[in-house]
Amino acid sequence: MRQTYFIADLHLSESRPDITAAFYQFLDSHIVNKDVDALYILGDFFEVWVGDDYVTQLSTDVAARLKRVSNNGTSVFFIHGNRDFIMRDGYAKKAGMTILDEQTVIDLYGTPTVILHGDEMCTQDIEYQKFRKKGRGWWWPRLMLALPLWYRRSVAKKAREKSKQNQAGKSLDILDVTEEAVLNVFAKHQVNNMIHGHTHRPDVHHYKAHGEALTRTVLGDWYTQGSYLVVTPESQKLMSTPF
Ligand code: MN
Repeated sequence: MRQTYFIADLHLSESRPDITAAFYQFLDSHIVNKDVDALYILGDFFEVWVGDDYVTQLSTDVAARLKRVSNNGTSVFFIHGNRDFIMRDGYAKKAGMTILDEQTVIDLYGTPTVILHGDEMCTQDIEYQKFRKKGRGWWWPRLMLALPLWYRRSVAKKAREKSKQNQAGKSLDILDVTEEAVLNVFAKHQVNNMIHGHTHRPDVHHYKAHGEALTRTVLGDWYTQGSYLVVTPESQKLMSTPF
């Protein structure tokens, strides 16, 4: 049976070995040698990414596991999240994965589908969108990656603390996507199917626009469960497996 998997928001880190273990378990039970066409990782795969030159046991092990997946014939694709958007081809190559554009349209067994991390659709969070614009622009990543590793690590640490403080003061609505932004993404790519992560609110949403039925699937985070979407030529199933 042909099948394609989607995951996002694992937030892999040294401080959460249980998440890493759940991810390896997921690969072993669903992906490796299971006749899977593709595995798509839609951002925030790692809790923090300060550059491909910051090599850890975790990043090395994860790359080796993923490399095995692609060597076995399953294509692995990655879209940047807001935590790991300065990952580059150096690490992707080690992990046997291909980095895709931040909004990419794929042919999902005949259904054109736009896939993205999704943070750009949280348009009510103006402060964050300002940072996003800078971070995804041409000069900021180049400047960051030219700075010494210790400095980048301290910038990342401060940014995480600041983001925690900011989020604590924001209502849940502000941190979610807006319907306007969602409909704009559907319209921009002229598709009726969307898959994204980021908001940590796993669900399947249905819309009607211009007489078309639109479907938006949100992947869950991996803080307390494994969460994935599995798509076959016949079905789309959003699954969660508690640790
Ligand atoms: Mn995110």
